[in-house]
Amino acid sequence: MGTSSKRKTPAPRSRAARSEKWVYLFAEGNARRKDLLGGKGANLAEMTRMGLPVPPGFIVSTRACNAYLAAGGFPPGMWAQVERALAKVERQAGRRLGEPRDPLLVSCRSGARFSMPGMMDTVLNIGLNDVAVAGLAKLTGDERFANDAYRRLVQMFGTVVLGLPDEPFEAVLARHRKAARVENDADLAAATLGEITEEFKAIVKSQARRAFPEDPREQLRLATEAVFRSWNGKRAIDYRNAAGIAHDLGTAVNIQAMVFGNLGDRSGTGVLTTRNVTTGEPRLEGDWLTNAQGEDVVAGTRATKPIATLKREMPRIHAELARHCATLEKHFRDVQDIEFTIERDKLWMLQTRDAKRTAQAAVRFAVDLAAKRLITRAEAVERVSPDHVDAFLHPQFDAKDKAAAKKRGDLLATGLNVSPGAASGILAFDADTAERWGAREKKAVIMVRPETKPDDVHGMLAARGILTSRGGRTSHAALVARQFGKPAVVGVSAMDVDAANRRFTIGTRVFREGDAVSVDGTTGELFAGELKTVVPEFSDPYLARLLGWADGFRRLGVWANADYPRDAVRARGYGAQGIGLCRTEHMFFETERLPLVQEMILADTDEARTGPLAKLLPFQREDFVGLFRAMDGLPVTIRLIDPPLHEFLPSYDELAHDVTEIETRLSMAAGKDPLGLAGTLATKKRLLEAVNALREANPMLGLRGVRLGIHLPQLVRMQVRAIIEAACRCRREGIRVHPKIMIPLIAHNNELKVERAILDEEAKAVMKEQGVRVKYQFGTMIEIPRAALTAGDIARQAEFFSFGTNDLTQTTFGISRDDAETGFLREYLEKRILPDNPFATLDQAGVGKLMEMGVRLGREVRPDLEVGICGEHGGDPATIAFCHRIGLDYVSCSPYRVPVARLAAAQAALAMDAGRD
Ligand code: ADP
Ligand code: MG
Ligand code: MG
Repeated sequence: MGTSSKRKTPAPRSRAARSEKWVYLFAEGNARRKDLLGGKGANLAEMTRMGLPVPPGFIVSTRACNAYLAAGGFPPGMWAQVERALAKVERQAGRRLGEPRDPLLVSCRSGARFSMPGMMDTVLNIGLNDVAVAGLAKLTGDERFANDAYRRLVQMFGTVVLGLPDEPFEAVLARHRKAARVENDADLAAATLGEITEEFKAIVKSQARRAFPEDPREQLRLATEAVFRSWNGKRAIDYRNAAGIAHDLGTAVNIQAMVFGNLGDRSGTGVLTTRNVTTGEPRLEGDWLTNAQGEDVVAGTRATKPIATLKREMPRIHAELARHCATLEKHFRDVQDIEFTIERDKLWMLQTRDAKRTAQAAVRFAVDLAAKRLITRAEAVERVSPDHVDAFLHPQFDAKDKAAAKKRGDLLATGLNVSPGAASGILAFDADTAERWGAREKKAVIMVRPETKPDDVHGMLAARGILTSRGGRTSHAALVARQFGKPAVVGVSAMDVDAANRRFTIGTRVFREGDAVSVDGTTGELFAGELKTVVPEFSDPYLARLLGWADGFRRLGVWANADYPRDAVRARGYGAQGIGLCRTEHMFFETERLPLVQEMILADTDEARTGPLAKLLPFQREDFVGLFRAMDGLPVTIRLIDPPLHEFLPSYDELAHDVTEIETRLSMAAGKDPLGLAGTLATKKRLLEAVNALREANPMLGLRGVRLGIHLPQLVRMQVRAIIEAACRCRREGIRVHPKIMIPLIAHNNELKVERAILDEEAKAVMKEQGVRVKYQFGTMIEIPRAALTAGDIARQAEFFSFGTNDLTQTTFGISRDDAETGFLREYLEKRILPDNPFATLDQAGVGKLMEMGVRLGREVRPDLEVGICGEHGGDPATIAFCHRIGLDYVSCSPYRVPVARLAAAQAALAMDAGRD
């Protein structure tokens, strides 16, 4: 080949160059080419290259699939390449497709870039026909096996390739089982299977209006087309929508020599994961069957055996399998999910992929693999998703409630705990009902089935929990539940599910559709009725280690929003490094305090306010003492009163209604007033007037925040006094206090100037009285666009900034959250006018730009200005990454989000360091 001449002048295009390379032998591919070869094919190629025992085969690329779907036919040159690759496989296998005496059989397997278990089609045993079946019988010395393989092909061909329903085929099988008085297809005689195949062919002919193709090449061609088309099947589309997989990737087709797990007692087939994917424990977990073909294990129709039994029954095979598992884990640097088949004492590897896992397992895998140095600590931190960490803080059943249920006899049964978490709800016996009740009517639903199938996924997604009577850890139900974080209990064999009549029985108890049950996916227990849920202890040792590593990588601080000491204690337990927001007004609502607050609000004069404020002071002081104690040594940011005053008063409408009612009753009582209603009326009337006077058209933009502080300086003075008195007292107790006083809703630096002068004076006065000095800071929320735009001016007065992104989002968009989220925002999201809910994920382009500007302008004036965020966005991973990029010092979020934020902040730092942002 004259490569040098080629470079200068374009050579006339050769035959091969004219068509793209559509087909790859396993030996030609590798694991990095998943886009082109699909996940299954790329990994089969990789295993082949690693020297593992993989039946020979080749891959038709995802590009060929896309070309086929676009044009409605195979792209030019593709089939010729298939023929050439097939010839090579025939040489490797020493058998030929369609050769009557020694036929090669192949499978035609789908396999997309991302694994979509069971969502697309696979056809096994291609190459059999009336002649070859006899050859296979002779070759294996097992006529029953050959006939069974043939009847499976005709059945799969009819259903998968020609799209016929499965029922007529199953009906034939059922009839023959009954006639032969056997329970399993495996017990049907060779001759019977031959008859069944003939009946299957008749079904195909009459229902598909074409004969089953006897020509193996035509079988292969039609199966390949069917696999390509299955990419656009409804099941596959639904799954991709739910899993967020793009619709234009296409599937590859893997054509591979068949090996047989159904050649007697020294054969078998199974699936396993290299570790326990529920708990993360490092041992092989899976199911297998003797004398069975691939599909039988996942179908859940025969009782499978745990993989541990393979060690007893076929120790040599088990040892080899364990060795391959270790090799694969090491090579792929992750836990693997593997399919294997044993053909007469010879082990074959049929698939490997990164295993789906629960949150608990994901964390343990990451830590264990890093400990074994298969991955670095940074990789371990990057492998666990924020959602995984979040799952650790998800509800579990309340232990007492559970014990009580057991005592009552409501623990119905125990199955396999395949996906952790607790869920209660009403029973739905099929996916459509589960979807209708769960997604549309917003009810808590537990979907129950004998086993689930790929077209049940929409119902599973809408359900709170999943329950099946059959299936194992690798069953469809288990796989899907884990992927979507749904609590699931499968294989509850004590439960007899009668889906047609919408009920199940356990012993003598009958449960019908709509009855409530509770499933505990962490323990595998099934309860009658609804149980109370609680948030679990945050004590998993693997999670603690992983988050410890994350802390070493992150540069953002993680603080918490906490109003009460108990929240602060919890937050600190989760790793919070400070309190970024304590909302003082929450404390005003407590029963002993609300009347005092109302009295203060309703007072006409400053003097009249002094009394109630003096009584409120000790309450507030105790609140702050509690917080300072809980956060000894860490900063505590206390925001002065923020909401409009009417929030503390009864509603105007209710009062007006009461007044009218009392007036009517008095007028009907004709001058008599035994109940003393006149007094009540006077009070209510006075209150009504006061409430009316405080009414605002737009309270959200009315007298609140700093405006209220300026309007009622005694109130905020009391709050500052409470803070400093508490700080002084704690100081005397030896507690290290770092109070930060935060003034909300600043729009103009003059507001801050006025407010700060008043409050500074009060703080100094308190310290003088107490004879104790504490260091405190004054800062502000940045939550009005004008504050961000003039952050330089504001920074002259403020020692710290905290972005209040809830209000900043409202005021930047000019929409009220309360009205938007229950109304037009949904429409906006459905119509894709907004990509995300801006109250959940920060609008980086708009609100984010204001934040960026605020940080920059503020630090120009005050280089050491501390800046954080305390809006709800502070716990959202995407927002956390943004905060990292714009140089915030910390994020503050709800205590339950603190662990998530620790991980997300580390991932943000790692991503930025790797130049990925
Ligand atoms: P899925 O993606 O639904 O798992 P697969 O292509 O993996 O579909 O195949 C379905 C079943 O058939 C699996 O159990 C697989 O191991 C088995 N299988 C596929 N190809 C072969 C083959 N060449 N020899 C033996 N078993 C096979
Ligand atoms: Mg598979
Ligand atoms: Mg606010």
